[in-house]
Amino acid sequence: MTQLDRFPPPDEPRVSAVCAYCGGEIYVGDTLVLYANNDTSHEGECESGYIAAELGLERLVAE
Ligand SMILES: [Zn+2]
Repeated sequence: MTQLDRFPPPDEPRVSAVCAYCGGEIYVGDTLVLYANNDTSHEGECESGYIAAELGLERLVAE
């Protein structure tokens, strides 16, 4: 089974990209958010945080 030998050991996940928001690694198989400027981030909190920081968004209570 030479095919199986090509997989990396499970304790060494392959890094696909680096998150522009938290600086963490995004591994192959994880969901990745790709922005128009080619930055990448994790989905969820990093996605929200990145967008808020880039666009200067604020969440306020409407008055
Ligand atoms: Zn992140």
